[in-house]
Formats: sequence, C-alpha cells, structure tokens
Amino acid sequence: MIDFKYLAKKYSTPLYIYDFNHIKNQFTQMKDAFKARKSIISYAVKANSNLSLIKYLAKLGAGADCVSINEVKRALKAGVKNYNIIFSGVGKSDFEIEEAIELNILMINVESEAELDRVETISKILDKEARISIRVNPNIDAKTHPYISTGLHSSKFGVEIDVAKRMFIRAHNSQYLTPIGVHFHIGSQLTELEPILEASSIVADLVRNLKALKIDIKFFDIGGGIGIKYDDEKTIPPNNYAQIILSTLKGLDVTIICEPGRFIVGNSGYFLTKVLYEKVNGENSENRFVIVDGAMNDLLRPSLYNAYHKIELLDREENESKCNIVGPICESGDFFAKDITLPESKHNDLILIHSTGAYGFTMSSNYNSRPRVAEIAIVDGEDYLIRKREKFEDLIRDEIDFLDKL
Ligand SMILES: *Cc1c(COP(=O)(O)O)cnc(C)c1O
Repeated sequence: MIDFKYLAKKYSTPLYIYDFNHIKNQFTQMKDAFKARKSIISYAVKANSNLSLIKYLAKLGAGADCVSINEVKRALKAGVKNYNIIFSGVGKSDFEIEEAIELNILMINVESEAELDRVETISKILDKEARISIRVNPNIDAKTHPYISTGLHSSKFGVEIDVAKRMFIRAHNSQYLTPIGVHFHIGSQLTELEPILEASSIVADLVRNLKALKIDIKFFDIGGGIGIKYDDEKTIPPNNYAQIILSTLKGLDVTIICEPGRFIVGNSGYFLTKVLYEKVNGENSENRFVIVDGAMNDLLRPSLYNAYHKIELLDREENESKCNIVGPICESGDFFAKDITLPESKHNDLILIHSTGAYGFTMSSNYNSRPRVAEIAIVDGEDYLIRKREKFEDLIRDEIDFLDKL
C-alpha cells in the first residue's frame, strides 16, 4: 500500500506517483507473452518519458518507440540500446532524420512517400545507410476514441498497403535505404482483438509479398495500443494478444516488435491533489464544485478526451452527493470529473486520481503560469523523487527582456 498522506506531506501537492513494481510486472507480462518468438518490447516513450522510468525499463531489457528526436535522445540517455530504438511520426524534420541516421538507431519508421524521399536524400548527403520500416495504414477501425484511433485512411498516419509496397520496392532498390521492418499501429486503448487480427493479417500478407520479391523484412512491428482498465473496460490479456498476432505470422521468420505505452505505465500512476474549497453555484445542489489544487495543465486527459479516471476522496465517507471535480484554471474545460458521487470534503483533504501513469505528466504544460508538478517513484515500498517541482524561476528562465536594451 502506498502511503499517500505521507507523500503529500513530504512532497506537497499536486503530485504524480508511479509504482515501479507495477511497471515491472506489466513489462514482464508483455515480454513473456511473446516468448515463443524473438521479440523486442519497445516502450512508447511518449506515454511517460521520465528518465528514471525509461532507465528502469531499459534495465529490464526494453527498447524504445520514439516520436521525436528528443525522445530518441532521452531513450539513449536512459540506457536503451541504439539497436532497440525506433523513430516514428508523420512529420519528422530534416534535422531529426539526420540525427536519427547519425545515432544509428534500429530504424526510422517512414510514414509517407515524401518522407522516404527526404530520408534517402539525407542519407545520401551523410553517405550513411538508413535502415527503415514503413508504417502501413491498414484501414481498420480500431473502435476506440476518435482522437486515439489511427488505423483508418481518414487518419493522418501511415500509408495504404499499395503505396507501402511501392515504397518498399523503391527503398530496396536504393543504394542508401535498407528496408528492414514493417509497422502498423491502429490506435490506442484497444479493447477488442478483432481489429488487431485484421490489421495483422493484412500486414503479414504484405510481408509475404515482399519476401517473394526478395525484400527481406526482419521486423514485424505491431505498434502499441493495448488497453487498460480505467473503469470496468474489458481488456485484452497479453497472452491472447500475442496468440492473435502469432496466428497471422505462420511461416514467417520475423522478430516481433511491440510498442506498448499505456499498458506498461498507465495503471502504475496516481495523481494526488488537495481540496482547496467546495462551493455550490445557485440553487441547484447539482452545481456542487470541489475545487482542487491540480488542474488540466497537470492532467489533460479528462479535458482533451473526456477521459474517465477513478477518483477517490481519502479518509472521508459522510454526506455523499453529486459533484464536479475542477481545477483553478480559468477555463470551463478545466475538470477531472463531472457528476460523480463523493463525500463532503474539507480544506486540505486529499483526492487521488487513479490510472494516470500514461499521458499524464507528458501532456502537462505551464498554462496559467503553473509550475509542472513533482514526480515520485515507489520501488519496493520506498519513495524517490524523480522530478523536482518547477519553481517560478524555471517558468521565466528562457524569456528575454528586450525592453531593457532599448
Ligand atoms: C502512441 C504510440 C504507441 C503507444 O500507444 P499506447 O496506446 O500508449 O500503447 C505506440 N506506437 C506508436 C507509433 C505510437 O504513436
């Protein structure tokens, strides 16, 4: 059990807390699920990119799936091996492509024909081979939130199967490009196997086609996206997930790359915030607001996706009624929950928001000049500060007072 009251006293609030033992357990489950094959579990760094957290996973043998060159650098700094790093994303800048080639990572995951041109041009200038994979958009509805659905032609990600084939042939014939992988990622928070099976079958057929053309695809990258329980969702057990993928790969000698983010860290995280005030606006008791010291700049998912997070008021049970949990930011969209039932709270009571290890801190900002909060790791019952709370000085450090020079 994590002693949240003690942590609030020691580190103040708002606060992110991650249970590293849970992270280890999730990672091990995923790794074991694919043990029938060669596999790399490449943690999706964007879910939570704290260096200590990546380092902890690197020590367990994780690779990294990165979506910017600075994520690549984070992964390297945290000790992830270059040959276990993949760089994805629809809009890589020239300098990012250049650095990725120089850093000799496993592969650049190319998402358009135009980008393939850029990668080829840049590798030619550097006179250095670029290993690539191509992200296929299999046009499969992942049946998840539209903002995190990525496998339909109406989304910006990847290229359709025929284009991918054309690109592979081009890359194969290029002196500078070496196609080694194929990739798909149809969405996040996936809770159904059917779309995964469909997508994997389509992409596996492409690999068979390519092998017939003597284009030897070594890495079958299935992306991430496996969902977790926020509420009472039915989730996919890692073993079933692996079985479904493996069933599409009969006769193919490929290394599987899996890029889970949320699955590894989501349920490890807690966001701890303190009650400032309660108030009721107008006559209607349903307009009860519990105002806390955390806000949408710290945890954006409820505002951005209307995401559900389990919320608990610690140490109180009396006078339950409906309420909205809101932050101090000057936006009506600044809420953590609407219309939930919670006991009556008092100033300085603690509120615990569950399942906030993924896409929590990494989406945070300084809106309203709010310093980013501290992050704590819990390992075998001990707490460690892994990121300091920002201060006022941190907020203004890079601003330049030109008016002084006039
Ligand atoms: C975001 C992303 C992931 C991780 O998604 P999760 O839902 O957190 O598992 C994996 N691969 C790619 C390419 C991504 O963009």
